[in-house]
Amino acid sequence: MARVAIVTGGTRGIGEAICQRLKRQGHTVVANYAGNEEKAKAFTKETGIPAYKWDVGDHQACLDSCAQVESDFGPIDIVVNNAGITRDGTLHRMSYDDWHDVMRVNLGGCFNMAKATFPGMRDRGWGRIVNIGSINGQAGQYGQVNYAAAKSGIHGFTKALAQEGAKFGVTVNAIAPGYIDTDMVAAVPAPVLEKIIAKIPVGRLGQAEEIARGVAFLTSENGGFMTGSTMSINGGQHMY
Ligand code: NDP
Repeated sequence: MARVAIVTGGTRGIGEAICQRLKRQGHTVVANYAGNEEKAKAFTKETGIPAYKWDVGDHQACLDSCAQVESDFGPIDIVVNNAGITRDGTLHRMSYDDWHDVMRVNLGGCFNMAKATFPGMRDRGWGRIVNIGSINGQAGQYGQVNYAAAKSGIHGFTKALAQEGAKFGVTVNAIAPGYIDTDMVAAVPAPVLEKIIAKIPVGRLGQAEEIARGVAFLTSENGGFMTGSTMSINGGQHMY
């Protein structure tokens, strides 16, 4: 059945692949983005998927923008909380702003989007929320106390909200990607990346489409008995 789906951070990288995959599944898809207008315009031109700008870390903006999407396209039944940022640094170099920005966007964004959409899903008796966590939220990562804490928080958030949604036909799951070939990973210095790839048993970075396929299953009618889980898609790097 065709549904209305929102993918936060949907105009680039993993989010872009998720948008395209959900569109191919027949859904009406809306992508959200933070401010890269050039990329958002090119994305919409290429895919035909509308892109709405707002900051997922801004609670009121999530409420207002989701209301706007519902007025434009109908009730939102699928939310993929994919928007994420990094502000890396070892603890002694990390500023409070680096900590706070990452918590606000990566974890706060999940709360804000759930507040805007979960009540409607529950009332209608069907919904799918997929939160994009990270291998670094499962295993930790040097220089990422902010990011690892926020992503680890996503896994707890997912299990708690899954318990609230289960009786109402709303599933809530997480995907923990390993290292995926996107702009975020392109920012990792080459020697560090070589060491990372050497630790991935399948011997390569993942592709965004490989995460999108996981989202397609979790958001499908067939995914109804899977809730509160974390799907690790990481080439065997962390067997959790
Ligand atoms: P990218 O950096 O390629 O893209 C990030 C997207 O998120 C962009 O569309 C960006 O919008 C959007 N975004 C950033 N901040 C906000 C905000 N405050 N409000 C709304 N949108 C925002 O990321 P990836 O595709 O690499 O990663 C996607 C998700 O997967 C993230 O949550 C990331 O943490 C997670 N992940 C990624 C891994 C990887 O190896 N790439 C590994 C594990 C997890 P704009 O273009 O306007 O800036």
